[in-house]
Amino acid sequence: MVFRLIIITCLFFYYCSIPNGRSEVYSYKIKQFVNSWQSNQTIQYPADEFEIQALIKHAYQQGSTIIRVIGSGHSYEKAISDEQDINAEQKLMLVSLEKYHGVTIDKENNVAIVKAGTFIGPNPEVGNKDIKKSLVWILNQVGYAVPDLAGITRQTVAGFLSTGSSGGSLLYSFYDVLVGIRLIDGKGTIHNIYKQDSKFHAVGISMGLFGIITSVNISLMTKSFYVDGSETISPIVPPSSNFSVGCPIDIFGDGNQQYPSLTKFFKTGADFSRLIWYPQKDVDRSVIWKASKYDRKPFPPIVPYQQFSETNLTAVSMQIADAFTIMNMLAADTEEYYSLVNSIFDQLQPIGKQEFFDIYYNSLPMDNHLSFKILPISFTELWIPIEKTKEVMNILRNYYLTHGVNATGNNALEIYTSGKSHFWLSPSYSTDAVRFDWYWFDNNPIGTAQNFFQQFWDLLKPFEYRCHWGKYLPDDYNGHRLHKLYPMLEEWLKIRNEMDPEQVFVTSYWRKIFSIKKLEK
Ligand SMILES: Cc1cc2nc3c(=O)[nH]c(=O)nc-3n(C[C@H](O)[C@H](O)[C@H](O)COP(=O)(O)OP(=O)(O)OC[C@H]3O[C@@H](n4cnc5c(N)ncnc54)[C@H](O)[C@@H]3O)c2cc1C
Repeated sequence: MVFRLIIITCLFFYYCSIPNGRSEVYSYKIKQFVNSWQSNQTIQYPADEFEIQALIKHAYQQGSTIIRVIGSGHSYEKAISDEQDINAEQKLMLVSLEKYHGVTIDKENNVAIVKAGTFIGPNPEVGNKDIKKSLVWILNQVGYAVPDLAGITRQTVAGFLSTGSSGGSLLYSFYDVLVGIRLIDGKGTIHNIYKQDSKFHAVGISMGLFGIITSVNISLMTKSFYVDGSETISPIVPPSSNFSVGCPIDIFGDGNQQYPSLTKFFKTGADFSRLIWYPQKDVDRSVIWKASKYDRKPFPPIVPYQQFSETNLTAVSMQIADAFTIMNMLAADTEEYYSLVNSIFDQLQPIGKQEFFDIYYNSLPMDNHLSFKILPISFTELWIPIEKTKEVMNILRNYYLTHGVNATGNNALEIYTSGKSHFWLSPSYSTDAVRFDWYWFDNNPIGTAQNFFQQFWDLLKPFEYRCHWGKYLPDDYNGHRLHKLYPMLEEWLKIRNEMDPEQVFVTSYWRKIFSIKKLEK
């Protein structure tokens, strides 16, 4: 009762302090672009390739317009466009491909030709309104699938691929079936780049800096599949086969016959997996999600994965948003606060286990059932060779134990993997990687994402991590540091320069990261 009263009082004062109430605070990132319309900034919605080409040619000839293409707008804003670039001499044109979607199945060549603006999969946030237009749905109609999916599927195909995004698997990747990319470069020239071409592994992950991808070819080689899996919520230590006492994985140790180490779990525990760690004192809880392909017949009945005990997407998201707000506002290293946080997580993520069985596109995107309008989150994600998992986990544990609420925050750390990639700018280029993904609730009344993430950028710097391109990057993630991390970067930049000699796609943000010199005009 007292706990409820504290929450209601805090929320009352919090909402009173917001100028236009909840709807403004929860406005969606993409809307910000449209609303902040200015005379030297515009957004275009081309409906065919000819129009896309015309926009680029116009910018190329005109010389003072930067073009940035936007998918679903789920990346860190600056990865898409940078307000710094709008000034009296320079214009910014955002190109949205929301009218440019669709999938053609080419049975003869065994490929699906997917227009760049096509959504990958369902988006329960809008009641799955467009599910029948999504890639996974259309592929499923002809018996095929993509090999893996991320935690959500509301990204566009080109936006997802352009930042090197991927799901949590060492075995399967969306990129495994990518066999062709059609792109209009900075001069307006159309390129068809296939897997055997030398530029293919450069263009695949290029953050809109080579041109606008208009379609991709996906090989029809993964048959549609079902997965069975489980999610276990338990204390993160000690290892135990009883989830109410401890964790089924030896998270910080070497593991043994009974409990695998975390590295072993990622490598052999399941086809797809992830660990969520709530490191707050007295909570210290793990959520182990795993799933594997299921091909034995007959199939068991469908049992959908359910992320939180409440099934209503809006209600769950609001409940979590409220909890985060309270925890952020009251944060203090006191026994009262720890006990409050513990009781909140007991409600949100109670100790327990569920099992599920479903078609892959309803199970692998385990975060699909949250509203990111109500629960806007920023991320930073550091990719490290998988052999370092135990070492990093122990450093983090020690850090959380010694740095209190400023380190643990009010949210979770997601830990998952990605298999070795051939794409030059993939953060898992030539190495299997473990990924550490910190969450920051954007409506936290106190603090900033940048400041919160900085401590982890500093802490793990000796591990020479590579960062997810669609999420927050450290300020000093550039220059020599990047060349050391990405051995093919120089070649990548050379191709970029050939494709975009007038720097039509270069924003200040990307210019700094890749040390792209300004053109002398
Ligand atoms: C809630 C949430 C969950 C997420 N889960 C995961 C996850 O599990 N795994 C993971 O790896 N990532 C994850 N991400 C990150 C997300 O996958 C990436 O940010 C992705 O790039 C977003 O796709 P988008 O369609 O929104 O592209 P946008 O964010 O709109 O664009 C991303 C980049 O691609 C460029 N781009 C877009 N379209 C084109 C095009 N046609 N041609 C050339 N360039 C283009 C843009 O200019 C920009 O630089 C998550 C993000 C959120 C918000």
